[in-house]
Amino acid sequence: MKLVPGNMYLDKGSAVEFSRMSPNGEYAIVHPSGEPDMQSCYGVKPSTLKLKPCSEKVTVVIPHGMIPDEDLRAQLIEVGIRLIAEKCGDDDNFPEKYGAKFDNNVFSMHPYCWCEKEDCKYCRDYDPAPNFAYHGGLKVHWYKYIGRSMEIEGDVSAEKMLDIIRECLESIS
Ligand SMILES: [Zn+2]
Repeated sequence: MKLVPGNMYLDKGSAVEFSRMSPNGEYAIVHPSGEPDMQSCYGVKPSTLKLKPCSEKVTVVIPHGMIPDEDLRAQLIEVGIRLIAEKCGDDDNFPEKYGAKFDNNVFSMHPYCWCEKEDCKYCRDYDPAPNFAYHGGLKVHWYKYIGRSMEIEGDVSAEKMLDIIRECLESIS
């Protein structure tokens, strides 16, 4: 497990924040959650730290008819695709920004391509395949980054989009 400075971990059941490795590289310097680093830090063997399980749950409640707005729908689509990309992509390739190569029976995704070969489906100027396709009826194209100059094909309400996001996230195992 790679420790990330500023992230929270569990040390024998207590939440601690990792700040750095000791100079000899043997100990992880951590401090209890919410306490200042300089006064309360201590070293532990990195192998004893556990990932803190994520207990956050996001609930979005939208009163019926409250999102007629096209812009808001586009923003939901952008945020949703970023979340989905982050979950199905490879962390090293900034999936939340560019998208990811992924395909299952619910949706498919492919980043924008810069190769400029005439037979490439993902370079916009040639024969554009959607960068995101929900097989139940939504196609989204973007230019370079998710959200930039997006073209959306498919009549999807904001509420339906929330269902699509949920279905896509749940389909990634
Ligand atoms: Zn290309």
